[in-house]
Amino acid sequence: MLGPVILAASRSDTMRRFISAAPGTKQVVDRFIAGESVDQVVPVVRDAADKGLEVTLDVVGEDITTPEQAAAARDAYLELIGRLKELGLGARAEMSVKLSMFGQALENGHDLALANVRPVVEAAAAIGTTVTLDAEDHTTLDSMFAIHEELRKDFPQTGCVIQSYLFRTEADARRLAAAGSRVRLVKGAYKEPASVAYQSKPEIDKAYVRILKTLMQGEGYPMIGSHDPRLIAIGQELARQAGRKLDEYEFQMLYGIRSEEHVRLAAEGHRMRVYTAYGTDWYGYFMRRLAEKPANLLFFGRSVLTR
Ligand code: FAD
Repeated sequence: MLGPVILAASRSDTMRRFISAAPGTKQVVDRFIAGESVDQVVPVVRDAADKGLEVTLDVVGEDITTPEQAAAARDAYLELIGRLKELGLGARAEMSVKLSMFGQALENGHDLALANVRPVVEAAAAIGTTVTLDAEDHTTLDSMFAIHEELRKDFPQTGCVIQSYLFRTEADARRLAAAGSRVRLVKGAYKEPASVAYQSKPEIDKAYVRILKTLMQGEGYPMIGSHDPRLIAIGQELARQAGRKLDEYEFQMLYGIRSEEHVRLAAEGHRMRVYTAYGTDWYGYFMRRLAEKPANLLFFGRSVLTR
């Protein structure tokens, strides 16, 4: 029951101020956020590369309120891509972006987000890598998929994310499982109403398996975004049944969660990509990680109280 309460708090400015200022917060945030700046995240990318892991980098931030903030988000990604180029790390790192950070919810937001994300996708392509569009709450997805389709006309390797908790996703997966597409499947991290989304874990997990089967049997490149040991084993089996080689799909997990499993899968020869978030606007991202596992909240509470 705690998950929905935490997800509601993730959208509250009062809670944002309270939690951001609480002593002890930083220690818990550091488990999930790889640093505040490009300088701090570069060693994390190198360390991942040394362990045989790839990364997808997320400059944290969402739900911005002015076009200037959206332009700043674009520039933060361009700075990141510039550094990856200088350091020759482009082949190990792709980018993940949230369109709400690029202005999607502002006036004329669809066009604004597309205009801001396009230069990021272009810059990524110029250093030999790509961008994946994260999935946010269900009200944003028609716009996200339309932007994805538009970007793919010039940059067919642009990826997108689909969420198994949404009823619409099985149809989205059938449409997206086409040659050249790159699709990350996750369970979904937002608070969604029963009118659009499964509410129970067994239903969300069963939908995940059905959708993954569609992706694996299709012609695209499936990216299995989950820490769930059962779904990881099922993913391996579905890939085998579909006759896919090890480089024809990949696993993805979040920085700071089940890190030993990242290394184990890579050592087995799987492509393993770690979603690595960094930056100063970590509140929304952090709260979703707390909501996913109530034990994190206990750890957080203890850390705050023992200060
Ligand atoms: P769960 O059943 O939630 O977890 C399985 C096990 O993993 C747990 O028992 C626990 O051991 C561990 N675990 C999971 N979460 C945590 C945590 N926060 N802290 C500690 N341990 C944990 N969601 C979106 O809505 N849009 C996106 O664009 C998106 N991108 C993602 C990208 C990646 C690479 C990943 C891995 C997840 C992403 N998510 C996204 C989040 C996703 O929707 C789930 O909320 C999250 O992955 C938890 O689900 P799970 O599949 O890991 O399974």
